[in-house]
Amino acid sequence: MTVKAKQIHSQEGKTWGRDRDVTPLTNLICACIFLFCPIMVLYFWSSCTYYSCSLYAPVQELSAQNFSFEAVKGFFWEKLVPGPTATGFKLFFSWLLFQAFLNVTLPCKIGFGQMTPAGHLLPYKVNGLFAWVVSHALFIGGSLVLGLFPASIVHDNWGGILIAVNTYGYFLTIFCFLKAHLAPSHPEDRKFSGYFFYDLVMGIELNPRFGKYFDFKLFHNGRPGIVAWTLINFSFAAAQYQSIGYVTNSMILLNFLHAVYVVDFFYFEDWYLRTIDIAHDHFGFYLAWGDSVWLPFMYTLQSHYLVRNPVDLSAFTFLLLLAIGLAGYFIFRTVNNQKDITRKSDGKNLIWGKPARVIRAHYTTSDGKDHTSILLTSGYWGISRHFNYVGDLMMCAAFCFCCGVDHLLPHFYVIYMFILLVHRIQRDHTRCRGKYGKYWDQYCELVPWKLFPYFF
Ligand code: NDP
Repeated sequence: MTVKAKQIHSQEGKTWGRDRDVTPLTNLICACIFLFCPIMVLYFWSSCTYYSCSLYAPVQELSAQNFSFEAVKGFFWEKLVPGPTATGFKLFFSWLLFQAFLNVTLPCKIGFGQMTPAGHLLPYKVNGLFAWVVSHALFIGGSLVLGLFPASIVHDNWGGILIAVNTYGYFLTIFCFLKAHLAPSHPEDRKFSGYFFYDLVMGIELNPRFGKYFDFKLFHNGRPGIVAWTLINFSFAAAQYQSIGYVTNSMILLNFLHAVYVVDFFYFEDWYLRTIDIAHDHFGFYLAWGDSVWLPFMYTLQSHYLVRNPVDLSAFTFLLLLAIGLAGYFIFRTVNNQKDITRKSDGKNLIWGKPARVIRAHYTTSDGKDHTSILLTSGYWGISRHFNYVGDLMMCAAFCFCCGVDHLLPHFYVIYMFILLVHRIQRDHTRCRGKYGKYWDQYCELVPWKLFPYFF
């Protein structure tokens, strides 16, 4: 049987996995993502570095010169692409190796992911919180207490680091593409679409690994990227202090809210093993380059913005944004917990004081075995099918409005997350329908709303 023919079928004969609706257009979109996303990150970096975070100013400057070849060439080499620096490469690669070292050596518990389409239940080393604490203690201790390096070191070398992470992101993508063909970790969990760019961008292997535990997806998403998130913010706060002599309340609030999100991620790392990123997404450019470049650069745009454009929030705005951020966090966490606890207790738990209502759904893995899973239909999961995204979006809005309303750039994050999550709702629906068939239809009948009740 060919790999393609080994696609997984539910009772209704539908496949589940990522390669169901690949068309030449999808392939073209993937090619554009592969080529243009790095340019987009460079453009945002350039806007902040040379134009006070105005997205329009570079275009205005070029337009004043009629977009002449010389003007575009000058902009490209002088302002869009930062020069590679030895410090940028040293900082990033020592960070990457240090995180790998922590991942392998720190004490850990073993968590388990979701059953893969081929029937694997994979073990993961869960020690992200420990790695986060050690990394921050060393960075803050080394910079503020011992004075070994300036706390603004990340900010000061941001351009050089951008080139280093891009180099690594592309290398990792190509490495994983070749590994998927030549030395896959779980051959029967691969997906081949027949389209080059789709496979390169969306990934072929589901869980590429070194050995039993070193999981590419969990490591790259969590460690170099998300551990760095709060350190990058901290470094930008230090740069703001150097620049204006104090740290604005907007920067403090942003650092705090981002830290809540990041620490939650590591505190509940075991839960994260059963989210879409880890359980269902294959590992290609989307995650390899995305975790290496997109996440640390685009998710920290607000703190970069606040260095160039300090914002002092009024007490009312500060408290309002704090309240929206924390309320969003409360919703995000409690929705996710309801699902996780219900599945862990096999549906024998209480939701809002009443026994959980569930659908016991069947699905089949590619080895032909039948499995049962639980779809929760009460609590938040009875209000809409992705109410956790509502909490996430509230948090995103609070992050962005810390930067005021003068520029579009710091609001990119909430716009991007809205598009990402709405698109995710669509592809999750397709995948779940393929996996659970009539059981998923039954859930959709009981809970018709996807995100916001009575709206979408
Ligand atoms: P979910 O945690 O909502 O997981 C969806 C999966 O859960 C489905 O594929 C299905 O998987 C299962 N499921 C669906 N409905 C039910 C139900 N009623 N009962 C039980 N299980 C169900 O989605 P994500 O992984 O996308 O999101 C996790 C969190 O991460 C969210 O809070 C989201 O906001 C956040 N997030 C953050 C991002 C960021 O970049 N900051 C990006 C994306 C997400 P199956 O049945 O196969 O297990």
